[in-house]
Amino acid sequence: MSGIRPTGFLHLGNYFGALRNYVRMQDEFECFFMVADIHSLTTHPDTSQLKHHVRRVLAENIACGLDPDKVALYCQSHLRETGELYLYLNMLAYKGELEKTVTFKDKVKLQPENVNAGLLTYPVLQAADIIIHRATLVPVGKDQEQHLEMSRNFVKRFNHRYGEVFPEPRAFNFGNELMRVPSLDGSGKMSKSENQSATIYLADDDDSIRKKIMKAKTDSGPTKKNSPKPDYIEVLFQLMKLVSDEEVVKKFEEEYNNLTIRYGDMKKKLAEDMIEFIRPIRQRVESILKDDDYIRDVMVKGAEKARASAEVTMDKVREAIGLRYY
Ligand code: ATP
Ligand code: MG
Repeated sequence: MSGIRPTGFLHLGNYFGALRNYVRMQDEFECFFMVADIHSLTTHPDTSQLKHHVRRVLAENIACGLDPDKVALYCQSHLRETGELYLYLNMLAYKGELEKTVTFKDKVKLQPENVNAGLLTYPVLQAADIIIHRATLVPVGKDQEQHLEMSRNFVKRFNHRYGEVFPEPRAFNFGNELMRVPSLDGSGKMSKSENQSATIYLADDDDSIRKKIMKAKTDSGPTKKNSPKPDYIEVLFQLMKLVSDEEVVKKFEEEYNNLTIRYGDMKKKLAEDMIEFIRPIRQRVESILKDDDYIRDVMVKGAEKARASAEVTMDKVREAIGLRYY
């Protein structure tokens, strides 16, 4: 189970941290993936673009390879049962631990005028999203690691107080480690709503990709053989590892170590490989978005599958808590 907020265009971080794993998981597991529209209200209260973003995120999920016939692909707000579970979990979540959450502290700094209770209890709703399907594997990027730890704590408390209903969920990635795709300037992570000029979006056209990469910071090159790379150069290598062939990365690594590297050439190659990687996804998104009936169908069928799974869980939850009076 996992979700993506409809707060803007999806980017390489969403792809490599989340979507790539979703696509591989769909053949091995029973999967639930959602557009986290309610979560977006904690930071994006203006809903004038919401519908547009929700449809785009759905289309982007499908364009990256998710098959709505194999998985439940749905909108968070279409699954009302989650709201009920969230309410019960709130009684098991403590104000102190919520206030200490890194993402909460970051958002407080970012939007001091809108420190709403939804922002504070974001990890509680996220836990409800996951455990409503009694999910165990949650494909997410590194930035979500702490939230998953909190989900496990809520599950442990619930099971301890009311009996074993939920398995403990954990952050999942097919590789060894959770991913964090850095922003092009190395200042943070790529993101839908922050660091936009240093983020490569799946919707970027060839020219914007080329421009963003060519203006990435470099220097006159290393002066000592086999020296460590400065952060902004490391970012270019990291991105290259994602989209270029192994031999290409190896060639530039060797040139770096032998002091013969020309960053202009490296960026040109990175830009071309990035363009080849993104173009087919962008084109598929554009064609999916033209088909309104298809998108509606996906949402309706996805919500049905999600509801069937959630109803079973909520029966167990009400029973366990002791909310049966006759
Ligand atoms: P926002 O800025 O609106 O929070 P976001 O880019 O952080 O957007 P989310 O919707 O919060 O995206 O996260 C969707 C998924 O993408 C999560 O699994 C998250 O861990 C993953 N993800 C987001 N950014 C990155 C990144 N730079 N590298 C790897 N994974 C990422
Ligand atoms: Mg985020």
